[in-house]
Amino acid sequence: MGIGEALEDAARFGGGEDGGVTRMAWDRTLFEVYEWLRARASECGFVSRIDAAGNLVVVWAAGEEPAVALGSHLDTVPSGGRFDGALGVLAGFEALRGLRDAGFEPSRPIWLLAFMDEEGARFGTSMFGSKAFVGEDVTHLTGRVDQAGVTLAEAMERAGFDPAEVVGATAIGQVGQYLELHIEQGPVLERNGEQVGVVSDICGLVGLRIRLSGEANHAGTTPMEMRRDALAGAARFIVALRGEMAARETCVGTVGMIEAEPGAFNVVPGAAEISVDIRAIRAEDLDGIERWVEEAVTAIAHEEGLDVAIERIHRLEPTAMAPELVDLLSRSATAEGATHRVMASGAGHDAMIIGRHVPAGMIFVPSAKGLSHNPGEWSDPGDCDLGMKVLRRAVAELAG
Ligand SMILES: [Zn+2]
Repeated sequence: MGIGEALEDAARFGGGEDGGVTRMAWDRTLFEVYEWLRARASECGFVSRIDAAGNLVVVWAAGEEPAVALGSHLDTVPSGGRFDGALGVLAGFEALRGLRDAGFEPSRPIWLLAFMDEEGARFGTSMFGSKAFVGEDVTHLTGRVDQAGVTLAEAMERAGFDPAEVVGATAIGQVGQYLELHIEQGPVLERNGEQVGVVSDICGLVGLRIRLSGEANHAGTTPMEMRRDALAGAARFIVALRGEMAARETCVGTVGMIEAEPGAFNVVPGAAEISVDIRAIRAEDLDGIERWVEEAVTAIAHEEGLDVAIERIHRLEPTAMAPELVDLLSRSATAEGATHRVMASGAGHDAMIIGRHVPAGMIFVPSAKGLSHNPGEWSDPGDCDLGMKVLRRAVAELAG
């Protein structure tokens, strides 16, 4: 079975009529695709287990040294694509199987990992599985509630897991290096006609919520110069943010949500709340942009007669990939005849959690039109296969 067929096959689990795939964290469909892959792994003579945090671990046992780990995730966003996450896991499996069929004898164990809940789409608990794997405390997240009112703890129990035992998933001490293949989820490789991206850094991100408060008043009788229009202030900030981010390299900023109160046709908005998502590959850039946001929004609020409150919702530090693995993956791409570029990742991945503990490397394959988290997500099967071969070559070198 080629990688294209394997992706088709896996998409049966949670596949919808729109062509999208829905395998939410802890749902039956996710464990069904696990069992499908475990059966294939067992045919190849690999042993597998599901750990206490719901991560699937397939093991090619050999030697005593720390393992070379390959992985990604099999959970999706609602009606997501069939490539995001699944490609990395299935390509990892194809790489292992190909090496075994070719008579390769590893000198150290090779692990294939599918991490639970990379997306965080159900409980807002993204990278739950990889965090548990490296030993971060995730038990405080188990009270989170999904849209149906089910807590994470309840969802775990229904799937046969004990939330109190999640610490048992910690196994980073048995891993020497981590490699992840993923779709780019952006347009850069396609635009430049390149087949493989070797990731140098994964962007850090900051999420802010900003609330501007003015005064709600009559849209007909309040003269323009006497208004304290919170939405107009928010709009000025959104445009200023776009200009500032365009002027800075390697940073992006997005206002993705906006809410006006009271939200009526004929009322000057008395309050406006916006989300701000900032990403950068250097921590000092994140610091600088946060300072800029505070100054810019305060100045605009002052001019508009508004009060302002800024709340930081989350911050994830950038993670650099290991230089020796960037080098290894670049050499592997060249050896496979793949045109490639070294690039940063704007999206978060399990590799950023694992990469804080052991050397990690990532490869991207092109995403058609840069589309992801969408049923129309597509990567050419030939590109996926080439990415798998680059991964396979790198694993063979690390475990040879
Ligand atoms: Zn993903």
